[in-house]
Amino acid sequence: MSQVDEIFKLIDREKARQAQTIELIASENFVSENCMKAAGSCLTNKYAEGYPGKRYYGGCDVVDEIESRCIDAWKQVFNTNYHVNVQPHSGSQANCAAYSAVIKPGDTVLSMSLDNGAHLTHGSSVNFSGKLYNMVFYGIDSRGYIDMEDVRRKALEFKPALIVTGASAYPRIIDFQAFRAIADEVGALLMTDMAHIAGLVATGRHPSPFEAGCDIITTTTHKTLRGPRGGLIFCKPELKKKIDSAIFPGNQGGPLEHIIAAKAIAAYEAMDPAYSDYIDRVISNCNTMANRFVDMGYDLVTGGTDNHLFLLDLTKSGVTGKVLQETLDLCRITLNKNCVPHETRSPQVTSGARIGTAAMTTRGMSSDGFLATAGVIDKVIKALQGSGISDEFIDARKSEVDEILNSTLTANG
Ligand SMILES: *Cc1c(COP(=O)(O)O)cnc(C)c1O
Repeated sequence: MSQVDEIFKLIDREKARQAQTIELIASENFVSENCMKAAGSCLTNKYAEGYPGKRYYGGCDVVDEIESRCIDAWKQVFNTNYHVNVQPHSGSQANCAAYSAVIKPGDTVLSMSLDNGAHLTHGSSVNFSGKLYNMVFYGIDSRGYIDMEDVRRKALEFKPALIVTGASAYPRIIDFQAFRAIADEVGALLMTDMAHIAGLVATGRHPSPFEAGCDIITTTTHKTLRGPRGGLIFCKPELKKKIDSAIFPGNQGGPLEHIIAAKAIAAYEAMDPAYSDYIDRVISNCNTMANRFVDMGYDLVTGGTDNHLFLLDLTKSGVTGKVLQETLDLCRITLNKNCVPHETRSPQVTSGARIGTAAMTTRGMSSDGFLATAGVIDKVIKALQGSGISDEFIDARKSEVDEILNSTLTANG
């Protein structure tokens, strides 16, 4: 077999893995055929440094039209007159450019810390953000909610140039209006990173950072928005020039026009009423599954969820997030270990797990499927606490996973 064939064989293997696995990673989803088609199109051949109508290379009229349509579509999705830059290669690139557009190295930024559910790009010491800027952090209260008193106290104490809100592992509504009031009080700019909840914002199932008047709003397109892997930056019209030049030439070269075409398709899909129904199902499935864990005696961070994810706090059980993730992998259930508030273990080990319903809801899993999945995870946690994990135990769980997936497929023809 040629090396090329080997790569295609590996892609087939990954396709099979995805089909045979219950996917609970809160940041993943399954894109449409059309999205996939655009992302794999001839547009990957085209260089288009610059912006529609202002490119450095010739032959850009077609990609100009695609990118312009993509821009218009995303403004419509969020019903906003904010400017949008559709070129960020990822959520991290979007945040990197957003920071560099409005603050300088050494400036103070107030954000949430990683172990409380924020993203690496919100100031982790191993990330550019933590190395370039003077990061200070607000905390969460004893139940796991963002502590708005602490946000205000830290803002008054440190006088940040920028306040960042948004998270990767936060199960509750974020009060953007309250953040806006604090930012105004101390004269800071306010940035919301809605990477996880963007789909809920788009359909009105989470308060809008646009309506709260955030100065900059970044997002990924591949999580609840169910588009290709990439990012977007929205900003108030007066920041357009700074944001655009921070992306190009500031942080990126040529845009990925094949991904921009796929982003346009994802925007059209997000405006279809079926997408709104989808987001409603994601939220209700998440609630159903979270409540089942509560009924089975588990602790959840904040006791529950308002969105597409929840956090299992395994501290009481003695089982680590790492061992649970690895054991569930063997059973073909994928989730990720996650820090819990006031975590005592390292980020490589953790005392919790993050569970999201966006991906399996796309695949048509019903609330019964999510309940059955909670049952399988419960058995695994109990076995890890007790008798241990045998090959027979793993095989039995794999059969249960197959059954759940089969009934999901049957229900969807
Ligand atoms: C996922 C995520 C990102 C980064 O996305 P990448 O595309 O992986 O770079 C940024 N911010 C938040 C809050 C996220 O959850």
